[in-house]
Amino acid sequence: RDLINKHAIFASINQVVDYEKASLVATDLGFEPSLSTMTENPAVRGERPLSANEAMMASRDGENMVTIPPVVTIMGHVDHGKTSLLDTIRKTKVAAGEAGGITQHIGAYQVEVNGKKITFLDTPGHEAFTAMRARGAQVTHIAIIVVAADDGVMPQTREAIDHARAAKVPIIIALNKIDKANANPDRVKQQLAEIGVVIEEYGGDTVCVPISARRGEGIDELLDYILLVAEVQDIKANPNRLATGVIIEARLEKNSGATATVLVQQGTLKMGDNIVVGPIAGKVRAMFNDRGKRIQKAAPSTPVSILGLPEVPNAGDRLEVTPDERTAKQQAEAEAEKRATEAMPLGQVSLDTLYMQMQ
Ligand code: GDP
Ligand code: MG
Repeated sequence: RDLINKHAIFASINQVVDYEKASLVATDLGFEPSLSTMTENPAVRGERPLSANEAMMASRDGENMVTIPPVVTIMGHVDHGKTSLLDTIRKTKVAAGEAGGITQHIGAYQVEVNGKKITFLDTPGHEAFTAMRARGAQVTHIAIIVVAADDGVMPQTREAIDHARAAKVPIIIALNKIDKANANPDRVKQQLAEIGVVIEEYGGDTVCVPISARRGEGIDELLDYILLVAEVQDIKANPNRLATGVIIEARLEKNSGATATVLVQQGTLKMGDNIVVGPIAGKVRAMFNDRGKRIQKAAPSTPVSILGLPEVPNAGDRLEVTPDERTAKQQAEAEAEKRATEAMPLGQVSLDTLYMQMQ
């Protein structure tokens, strides 16, 4: 209690304290606190309180946890080959002639390697990645940092590495453009070591795979390493609960209205589910996979585009399935109110707006 007073934490025994405060107290008590990196749920990570529903479901997770596909983000300096790499993986691993072909673009796609799935996020440049993290959404399990072998470590390379480190996400270096005459892999490895990314060849533990996104060289090795790193990470989720996920991208379509790409993180998202995304409540009225094929349900790590939200949500917002429509509406309203208050700090309320609110 003295410690709690010392840190000015006002909480009773059954209230949630955020990680930062809890770790201050733990340190004072002589413990060495650390944040579990594999906990997907921001609530469980202490970033926000668990809802009663979530707490109930979380208590049943234990026996239901299964290994899920890793979600991979590709980051790196401009022109180092991120788009080329994503395109090459998609082209080589997504069989042509499948329903919808490979033209569908929903900001994420899934490939299968040796019977195991990998989900690639196609949208997040650095900003989206940071925005999602700022909202407490841990979306990726593995970060591929693309470094062009002819250009070396550049400002955005360092930025990307910093982001991955901050998110405690393991890094795989894809040393791209090795087909170029002026490629200098050794120089890049040296530069990486200088910023603390020591690759296996140099005695460190970061995997570095030489590739040519243009010629399709090294892609299979890269995918194998992704699966290997994923296996070590032991990425799990509970498919047997109401789904939660994160909005990867969203837009207004002329004919179908608000369309949102959701990455399912926990549970299984189903047709007809009542959902809440930030201040918006809705229902899953149609669901499509990354090939544009209509599907009925989506397991963890599956990217899907959904119809059924009355408005376009923000990328990075959390999606939650609620037990019924009323709960979805209540949660949406509460969130709308919260956002309105946050957007207008009390000190900044002008007399005009105060009068307007009173009318
Ligand atoms: P991004 O900005 O990181 O998405 O980079 P892009 O994928 O758009 O690639 C930038 C340029 O580098 C394009 O002209 C690509 O064709 C080229 N490029 C990408 N990968 C390779 C490669 O492996 N070898 C060569 N020679 N060029 C590449
Ligand atoms: Mg690009």
